[in-house]
Amino acid sequence: MSKNVLVLADVRDGELRNVSLECLAAASQVAEGGVVTAAVFGSDAKGQVDKLSHHGADQVVTVSNPKLDQYTTDAYFQAFKQVIDKTDPDVIFTGHTAVGRDVSPRIAARLGLGLVSDCTAVDFSDGKIVFTRPIYAGKAFVKKAVREGKVFATLRPNNIAALEADTSRSAVAEELEVDIAEDSLRTLVKELVRKTSDGVDLSEARIVVAGGRGVKSADGFKPLEELAEVLGAAVGASRGACDAEYCDYALQIGQTGKVVTPDLYIACGISGAIQHLAGMSNSKVIVAINKDPEASIFSVADYGIVGDLFDVVPMLTEEFKKVLV
Ligand code: FAD
Repeated sequence: MSKNVLVLADVRDGELRNVSLECLAAASQVAEGGVVTAAVFGSDAKGQVDKLSHHGADQVVTVSNPKLDQYTTDAYFQAFKQVIDKTDPDVIFTGHTAVGRDVSPRIAARLGLGLVSDCTAVDFSDGKIVFTRPIYAGKAFVKKAVREGKVFATLRPNNIAALEADTSRSAVAEELEVDIAEDSLRTLVKELVRKTSDGVDLSEARIVVAGGRGVKSADGFKPLEELAEVLGAAVGASRGACDAEYCDYALQIGQTGKVVTPDLYIACGISGAIQHLAGMSNSKVIVAINKDPEASIFSVADYGIVGDLFDVVPMLTEEFKKVLV
């Protein structure tokens, strides 16, 4: 049976986040001939229409209200709710990003829906959409199907392949006026301060170079940053490194930090505590560098290098430079 699917597009610094395209791919898969609609918010929303349509949207609802230029819970909640009321979708997807994680439970609660969060795969079985999601901090996965009513899910970045861009596609674009009363906004964003220095978004990065307490100091991150630069990677960290004030908490990966699923994860001087593994064990290829051959990180690593990271990391950087730069 065909289903109409709504995807909330996530825009950061004027660029669509890749997870929005991944949501569109999942939406196209489950729509079975129904309409795939993307909703995009903010003053430059119309600038995103082409890309959304090239990646699977049949219809794009733009909400160009400037109150949506920066994410706030109240403004996004009201706009998203009004888009849902207008489009009446059977299925709703958002990325499992800071935005999706904040707004989706509120919408689900208001509409009396269940929410399947942090899904890593979307399939079909017996005519139902079946979601795969991690449990027990990523140690196991469950499959869940929603038995009745609207289906609402957040999808983890980097797990579902986006569709190849088809530039011959052109979606029907519609501007929606939404009502967001000034006095309903309890938060006012005055300034946006980014704590990550490089341009690669950690949660969507294809390659992550992460440092733990083994880097020993803030300066100890420098060799990792150099490797990351050569690889076009993002730099991440264990909580051990953050707690020791070697880097900012914005870099923390794990149960209480960011969840990443890159193609390549290079763990340097990280012991591999369960709380750290919760944030990275789904990475496609894991390389661990640790001077302790018994370190737990080696139990999840595809490739292990027993050695001092201050010797190994610069060597890797030099070798990668020969082939990449
Ligand atoms: P350590 O465990 O101290 O390991 C350092 C490693 O570096 C060692 O294996 C050592 O052999 C190696 N090493 C030292 N020097 C070198 C060298 N020169 N070259 C190579 N290797 C070297 N942790 C997270 O990471 N993310 C989370 O989200 C998180 N959430 C938590 C939530 C809760 C409720 C709790 C209780 C803990 C949480 N933790 C989290 C903390 C976690 O339990 C660990 O304490 C932390 O991950 C350890 O960080 P680490 O591996 O960098 O440090």
